[in-house]
Amino acid sequence: MMKKDYYEILGVSRNATPEEIKKSYRRLAIKYHPDKNLHDKKNAEEKFKEAAEAYEVLGNPEKRSRYDKFGHSGVRNSAGGSMNMEDIFSNFGDIFSDAFGDGFSSFGFGRSSSQKTIKGSNLRIRVKLTLEEIANGIEKKVKVKILKMAKGTRIKICSSCNGTGHIVRVTNTILGRMQTSSQCNTCHGTGKSIENIPYGANRYGLIKKEELVNIKIPAGLTEGIQLKVPEKGNDAPFGGVPGDLIVLIEEIPHKELKREGNNLHYDLYISFSDAILGTIKEVPTINGKARIKINPGTQSGNTLRLKNKGLPNIEGYGNGSLLIHINVWTPKKINEEQREFFEKMRKNENFIPHPKNSEKSFFDRMKEMFS
Ligand SMILES: [Zn+2]
Repeated sequence: MMKKDYYEILGVSRNATPEEIKKSYRRLAIKYHPDKNLHDKKNAEEKFKEAAEAYEVLGNPEKRSRYDKFGHSGVRNSAGGSMNMEDIFSNFGDIFSDAFGDGFSSFGFGRSSSQKTIKGSNLRIRVKLTLEEIANGIEKKVKVKILKMAKGTRIKICSSCNGTGHIVRVTNTILGRMQTSSQCNTCHGTGKSIENIPYGANRYGLIKKEELVNIKIPAGLTEGIQLKVPEKGNDAPFGGVPGDLIVLIEEIPHKELKREGNNLHYDLYISFSDAILGTIKEVPTINGKARIKINPGTQSGNTLRLKNKGLPNIEGYGNGSLLIHINVWTPKKINEEQREFFEKMRKNENFIPHPKNSEKSFFDRMKEMFS
């Protein structure tokens, strides 16, 4: 098929000035704007694209001179025919905007057939978890107050825009009758309207309801983390997609165990005699009790590490440790017999401190703990 001459398309002479070419293109673009030619959209769109292609060449001095010398074959590879409507607006939008201001962008071409989907608002709740629940993960049923589409509410086609989501307005301008399309205010572009709203519901037919939602909480969370449960939030107006449920995690402090990241700490008090003679002790863990061996001659301030008895890592690899801090409890009250005994021991070689190198000092242990 013979391609039409670009000068012919724009209706200008071969020696037209750039100003004349631009003006002519603008006139054609407005005339054939698809939103303005709803009765003959297809044909108008073709003409609109044709004009854009011609202007793409003739509006560019370098391309124009190649076209003048070699015809269509001289500009074969320019964007021309493959341009879609969005390209045309983004390439030449300024031509229209200086005539109509911002109005042009609201022509809404390409969007007029697809209505907007509205998303419901997010629902935020707090969930308090015990350390045991954090350690093991849990499925919780939580009562929430959530906006739901009220029973009896009917969603119909918006009568203001006939379901298109857009209102087409005709205005007279110096360049002729202009048709502009903007989002329908009645339905917010959704093309739907709400009818039969029951008592107590809002203007979108949504009503607050108490509901039990099931939340899966993975192991290893920390206070302040927010979980997102997609589409379990408030219903959307106009039958759109529900919002998300945002779950803010709060931690209930454990009575005996202190958390530090994935590690747990426990302060164990042992008697003077147990420290000297050694014993077996029960300590709490996150999942029941554990028995630990206290060796004879255990020092106050020693730490025992129970590997894997801490909290699981949120990313699923490994557990922290349970660190048991030994405190030797010094008796505050003793009887005469005991006093005599310890008086005797005061100068005894066995009772005189002589820490070995292997017994780390308080400062060394602190350094280790924070490194
Ligand atoms: Zn509407």
